[in-house]
Amino acid sequence: MATSQYILSPREAHEAEQQWRVVKRSVDARQRELRVHLTVLTDDEGRPIAKDAPIPLYEPPVFQDVHKAVRSAIIIGAGPAGLFAALTLLEHGIKPILYERGKEVSERKKDIALLNRNEGLNPESNYCFGEGGAGTFSDGKLFSRSKKRGNMQRVMELFHYFGAPDTVLYEAHAHIGSDKLPTIIKNMRECIIQHGGEIHFETKIDSLSQLSTLNSKPITPVILAIGHSAHDTYRMLAAEGVALETKGFAMGVRAEHPQSLINRLMYFKGRNIDISGSQYTETISYVGNASYSLVTQVDGRGVYSFCMCPGGYIVPAGSTPETCVVNGMSASHRNSPFANSGMVVQINPEDIPGDNPLRGLEYQEALEREAFKQSAISSQPSAAPAQRLRDFVAGKASKDLPKCSYLPGIVPSRLDQWLPAHIGHRLQQGFRDFDRKYPGFLTNEAVIVGVESRSSSAVRIPRDPETLQSVSTPLLYPCGEGAGYAGGITSSALDGINAALKIADLA
Ligand SMILES: Cc1cc2nc3c(=O)[nH]c(=O)nc-3n(C[C@H](O)[C@H](O)[C@H](O)COP(=O)(O)OP(=O)(O)OC[C@H]3O[C@@H](n4cnc5c(N)ncnc54)[C@H](O)[C@@H]3O)c2cc1C
Repeated sequence: MATSQYILSPREAHEAEQQWRVVKRSVDARQRELRVHLTVLTDDEGRPIAKDAPIPLYEPPVFQDVHKAVRSAIIIGAGPAGLFAALTLLEHGIKPILYERGKEVSERKKDIALLNRNEGLNPESNYCFGEGGAGTFSDGKLFSRSKKRGNMQRVMELFHYFGAPDTVLYEAHAHIGSDKLPTIIKNMRECIIQHGGEIHFETKIDSLSQLSTLNSKPITPVILAIGHSAHDTYRMLAAEGVALETKGFAMGVRAEHPQSLINRLMYFKGRNIDISGSQYTETISYVGNASYSLVTQVDGRGVYSFCMCPGGYIVPAGSTPETCVVNGMSASHRNSPFANSGMVVQINPEDIPGDNPLRGLEYQEALEREAFKQSAISSQPSAAPAQRLRDFVAGKASKDLPKCSYLPGIVPSRLDQWLPAHIGHRLQQGFRDFDRKYPGFLTNEAVIVGVESRSSSAVRIPRDPETLQSVSTPLLYPCGEGAGYAGGITSSALDGINAALKIADLA
């Protein structure tokens, strides 16, 4: 089967998508007029194949029954890395036994609702911990910059198989949304259990030796897929002699603009378009709200946008009391009136004095506590500290704040004064640079909210590149974001698959 490529207006692309079998789609906002690049499947004469032609989208997975399997593997953590590892083990006839400190997804939802209403944080069930890991209540962006890690398309196919929309198979910047992800995650769990795997919720592993009491088999491989927020688990690993090292990471704030302003800057090159007019509303309904990806260098460090959520919400993403951590999520339609994104500064290990491998974590924690303290000063401890964007860059207090999607609330704060200078000053310059690229980006209609401290892992659990086993601890397979070898849902899922494939090869 061949393919043909088309460059179309949003309306033409929308119509083509209803009729043809699309295999790739991307929105090109670089030219004066917005264009959509479509690749469609064609027959031998070059005619597009109909969308509903009886041609399978992909080879479906085949999961084996492992109720009586001789081989098993333990997985710590039911995030994307742990779940995709479990599914891969099932494909190879190996029984996965998963331990997850948080709750199953429907119970977890209730704890997240309490958190959003300012009714308390459950340190074991929140935006970071629980079934599906940090990826469940997220934007669900499914793309990775790295093309080297393995079969990314297979990750998309598995998401689709468990209920994600067709677009994940062909959209260049596919996303699922936090309204759809919980069902997909539940479907994965049911598949694992139906085929004989085990999942134990609300079971935190706080010692590796605990695993031998939980399991009778003496030598069982362990996939460590703990994510990067389980600071207590890193400390346990350090105490038990597992090799750890500091790695570079990034910290900063989350910036939120009105989505209509971002649409105008990205899609209409800043033209003063009528946002109730048909050109604007048709464009948005065909291609969705605009996103952006910004990067600059300031004083030798990268300053960049991270995890941009068009039509999304800023969320409280901490997992320990008396800290303030923000991140972003969106629903599948990405239709809130706000556009938020992490704006972070690269931090290298040498930027933090000392040789403790956990010093990056300590640095993150100190800033998260400071952010909490700053909002507590305003006698609203569960609100997040915030400042209008232009005020932040100009070093001025914000008397009031614009509307913001952050449900627990925001309070005016001098982030320009209390962020560490090497982060704050670089962010200020970074925002000036972004405004040169997109004039109007630096505006007091936008607000920054602190702190975005968990954009990437500050620790690596080094592993042998061939066997993927920990360099210190045989049969321990550190993987996913917490191991420091992945960042994001798809690369973590793929890393979980790779760990499981290594275990399958052990036979
Ligand atoms: C709000 C938010 C939005 C995000 N949006 C996106 C996005 O749109 N796209 C994207 O690609 N990435 C996004 N991310 C990042 C993404 O979610 C992570 O990169 C990804 O989930 C990492 O997968 P993982 O399996 O390695 O770890 P995690 O998803 O963090 O899962 C680790 C799991 O291990 C469990 N665990 C930890 N310690 C223990 C223990 N001792 N015992 C038992 N269980 C334990 C945790 O409870 C957790 O469920 C977002 C993150 C957040 C917080």
